[in-house]
Amino acid sequence: MSDSLYDRRTLLKNALAGLAALPAAGLIREVHGAELPHLDPKDPQAVAMSYTHDASTVDPKKEPTFKPGAHCANCLHIQGQDGEEWRGCNIFPGKLVHADGWCKVWVAKPG
Ligand code: SF4
Repeated sequence: MSDSLYDRRTLLKNALAGLAALPAAGLIREVHGAELPHLDPKDPQAVAMSYTHDASTVDPKKEPTFKPGAHCANCLHIQGQDGEEWRGCNIFPGKLVHADGWCKVWVAKPG
């Protein structure tokens, strides 16, 4: 095998390996949430779910499913690490919700 053929094969193999790693890198970025935008409460999906950045502003008369003390940080759907202000949420993929936020899909995190 000539050196240039070997070089081309090595280059191609490395390029394919790099391409294969791209989705994994995107997934890691999404899980950690460092580069994801904050969910806009005016976003149509957020409005549909009555999302707010601040659970203390929820009017229980308008949102009868709201339970006192409920907020994103103690919701089953929250992602990321305890103590982080902005975290991923299973219901709003690709966006970050505020740890003190709330929406009508809230479900108590076990434990
Ligand atoms: S599903 Fe849970 S974590 Fe996600 S926005 Fe609603 S209350 Fe917050």
